[in-house]
Amino acid sequence: MKLHPAIDNGVTRGTSGFSGGTLHCHCETNPVLVRLDSNVAHNHACGCTRCWKPHGAVFSVVGVVPRDKVSVVSGQEKLYIVDPAASIQRHACRDCGVHMFGRIENPRHAFHGLDFVHTELSDEAGWQEPQFAAFVSSVIEGGTRPEAMTAIRTRLSGMGLPPYDCLSPELMDALSIHAARQTGVLKD
Ligand SMILES: [Zn+2]
Ligand SMILES: [Zn+2]
Repeated sequence: MKLHPAIDNGVTRGTSGFSGGTLHCHCETNPVLVRLDSNVAHNHACGCTRCWKPHGAVFSVVGVVPRDKVSVVSGQEKLYIVDPAASIQRHACRDCGVHMFGRIENPRHAFHGLDFVHTELSDEAGWQEPQFAAFVSSVIEGGTRPEAMTAIRTRLSGMGLPPYDCLSPELMDALSIHAARQTGVLKD
């Protein structure tokens, strides 16, 4: 079973000090180009049904960068928002369907200010490697047979990607800290 090309042959470590690169969509001509002036953080495999995945992959691989480090350098006219009602607005190429970046416009969202990107769309090497696997149980909603789940979790663990059925504990804590500050329960 192909989980994702970036992890099927093992995880390749990123390079410290790596400072970014250019993502390109899959169009042969006039591709959308998006420059990232930063490495990604919290890079991970994601089993949700909304992230863009390469053909045949069970997971996406997605990380975050500050939104002010993201710039569309070519093909802006081909971008559209896949689901304007979703909390993450995924900007995709009309022609090939690849998601170039996902952006949160709600300023009260815990992850506002961070864009979600797929570093496999870049030719550069050195991006932070995937750190964990999120929303693993959701691959069933994407068509994976439930009987495969034990093998999938074992494989992810074996390559150093702890499998979680939501986000990682660190990110779940960040969501709850943000919520507790908004309600006033947490005062610092
Ligand atoms: Zn395209
Ligand atoms: Zn996802």
